Amino acid sequence: MNKHYDHWLECEGTFDILACIPEEDYFWIKTADTVFYVEGGGMAKDTGTINGIEVEDIVCKDGEYYHKVKEALEGVAHMQVEVAQRIEKVQIHSASHLICGHINHKYHARTIAFFTHEDISGCEMEFDQFDESLMRQIEKEVNDYVMMDLPIDIVYPTKEEAQKHAPEEKLDHDELRAAVIGDIDYNMCGCIHVPSLRYLQSIKLLSFEKTTRGYKIYFVCGEQLLRTYGHQLSVLDSCARDLGTPQSELLQGIMKLRAEIKQLKDSEASWKQKVIDAKIQEYGSREETILCEEIDDLDVKTFTSMCSALVRTYEKGILFVCHQEDRCHVVIAHSAKVDFKANELFKEVAAEFSLRGGGNPAMAQGGGEYSAEILTKLKELAKKL
Ligand SMILES: [Zn+2]
Repeated sequence: MNKHYDHWLECEGTFDILACIPEEDYFWIKTADTVFYVEGGGMAKDTGTINGIEVEDIVCKDGEYYHKVKEALEGVAHMQVEVAQRIEKVQIHSASHLICGHINHKYHARTIAFFTHEDISGCEMEFDQFDESLMRQIEKEVNDYVMMDLPIDIVYPTKEEAQKHAPEEKLDHDELRAAVIGDIDYNMCGCIHVPSLRYLQSIKLLSFEKTTRGYKIYFVCGEQLLRTYGHQLSVLDSCARDLGTPQSELLQGIMKLRAEIKQLKDSEASWKQKVIDAKIQEYGSREETILCEEIDDLDVKTFTSMCSALVRTYEKGILFVCHQEDRCHVVIAHSAKVDFKANELFKEVAAEFSLRGGGNPAMAQGGGEYSAEILTKLKELAKKL
């Protein structure tokens, strides 16, 4: 067991380099001792440097440590663990002990898992039921413990002692180590912990979520709380500034914006309809009975509804193609007194230009890839009518 892990801020050390083993583009610096935490027990590995060179990985084999670096090193290794990452992860890990231990102890809900992400941490607890007021109560209770500044003791118990406190643990290591918080928590753990609860600064329980096994409870504490809060605040601040509203009235600002968008959409739809009505009237007032057109400024839905309205209102036959980027939509239709078989004409166009679709003698339509030749074809067909 690495005794340096008993002291959370022991982030510097100088040790003899026993070997420098090359592997591909890297070197493994072998030492008998290290201040770097090796990933395990749910705690990520430490980052930092040896003789100023970044340590990219660290593994422990047969009680010796191998540090992965990009340059060959010899003599002594001056190790420097990055302090900020050490503090943050140890705070989060220790807070998990406190929160889970307290919930185990007082609410008899077992720990299923705990996890850490960039901006948020959490634990999954075997609760049958959980709600906002219980979350607030637990938040207050764990923060009361932080105020009391209970110590977190690291102990090396005998197997018998450990069994007494942690009867459910496997206890299959040669040397046993436990983290103890008063009578709240006794946990077999090889990780690094803060020496007492005041180093957690503060714990904020954020939200909860039902899972198949219980409830996930999300929290932030210490440095993660400050960083996440600061980040979220600056996001809110930019949003508020962009919207030209005080931060506390952001929600009302967004609702107002939504209402304005809806109003504009309604107004847009009404103007669109006016334009379509004017187009229909213009087509309807033309002298010729059979009309051939390519239309470029309408979406397919508006185009087809305009075609239907046109032949419903005026005595016309139409052979129209609507062009949108590399696609097109063809409508062939007529009103009651104009007589031709729209479906047969469409079939002819569809066959020549590989269009999909169909219809009946009064109206047929379909779409496919656009070709400028389609309008020429429609004009040829119209001439024959
Ligand atoms: Zn631990």
